[in-house]
Amino acid sequence: MPPSTQLTRFGKAVQGSSCPTTIADLDVLGELSDGTAAPQGIYGHVPFCFHKCHYCDFYSLVDRRDRQPMFVQRLTEELRLAGPYFKRPLRTIFFGGGTPTLLAAEHWRTVLDAVRDNLSLESGYEFTLEANPETVHAELLAVLVDGGVNRLSLGAQSFQPKQLEALERWHDPANVERSVKLARAAGIWNINLDLIFAIPGQSLNAWLADLDTAVALEPTHLSCYNLTYESNTPMTAKMRSGAIRPVENEVEAQMYEATIERLAEAGFEHYEISNWARPGYRCRHNMMYWENENWWPLGPSAAGHIAGTRWRNVPRLDAYLAQGSWPPICDVEQLDADGRVGEELMLRLRLIDGVALDRLDELLAVGQRGPQRMAAIAQHIDGGLLQRTSDRLKLTKRGLLLADLVLADLL
Ligand code: SF4
Repeated sequence: MPPSTQLTRFGKAVQGSSCPTTIADLDVLGELSDGTAAPQGIYGHVPFCFHKCHYCDFYSLVDRRDRQPMFVQRLTEELRLAGPYFKRPLRTIFFGGGTPTLLAAEHWRTVLDAVRDNLSLESGYEFTLEANPETVHAELLAVLVDGGVNRLSLGAQSFQPKQLEALERWHDPANVERSVKLARAAGIWNINLDLIFAIPGQSLNAWLADLDTAVALEPTHLSCYNLTYESNTPMTAKMRSGAIRPVENEVEAQMYEATIERLAEAGFEHYEISNWARPGYRCRHNMMYWENENWWPLGPSAAGHIAGTRWRNVPRLDAYLAQGSWPPICDVEQLDADGRVGEELMLRLRLIDGVALDRLDELLAVGQRGPQRMAAIAQHIDGGLLQRTSDRLKLTKRGLLLADLVLADLL
């Protein structure tokens, strides 16, 4: 799942006996039916993985193959239910996970047939599948392309076995290049590579070597995230016990700054804190998140957002499979006006272009926290973390390194 979907919570949580059990208990379906809201995209979550990597806190479980048919049946049922509520063609679909390429080709054919039968897509749509380099093969790619997939996001993470081992990623780095070639041969030219830096034991030079290897594969897009120690992962427990030593903050900052420099030299546009694209290849799906648009979730643990209401399908495969009709949901929040402003600021300022001053003025005029936010913005401009240009407010180069701090002040 893209990190951008792990949104900070600042809405009013709906809890207790009135807690909804499915999306049918909320106003969302009515808003979709009468056209007051429409999703621009869909995020589908495939929860199967080879094994659980120790740094990962996404919902996934070890694939035993036996549950794939039931999962696919359930997913297609969700598609059939949701499709009639989408009154406008979708701009983007993204299947992440988990490891979507662990689903057998015949199952993808079923899912993609259901997509075609139940959804309409804009011309020039983007349809991305996340892929593990170990599981990309020609037969699967042929099915994907036939079903409309036109973008692949490969979890390369690193090209050095030592670093992959530190992450507990077990793919052969050579399979990244093999997958890129196979994808192109199948007709998919829009390819993202996911990379991770600040892996324990990784030097600045080792990271730059990874970047150079990635660039040499000529992807259209690169996502470069620093390793995050999520609160509930085995890797974090090892770090706390001293078994793993994180990369020093200073080295991590050097890695990030060197990434900005190296990818600019290679002709990539830096358009979001952790994302770079060849001109014309910004990820439309993630732009949808950062521009705070509406999207629909499919599959266990997938999160959705429609007109200020956020929710998540319950992150348990058994519960997802057991319930017919709409899937069970949790983490429902209905954002108030202030919450929506905070969320929009937090998301838009992740973009290198920042937020237009006209829009900023509109946002600061809403809700009660406007004066506080104005003061925080002034303080961060004085501190050199935000800059105001003739028409936009955006993070400075130093602000990119301390983005979490700045964005937290604007909530
Ligand atoms: S393959 Fe990806 S989703 Fe699966 S456990 Fe590893 S990091 Fe998490």
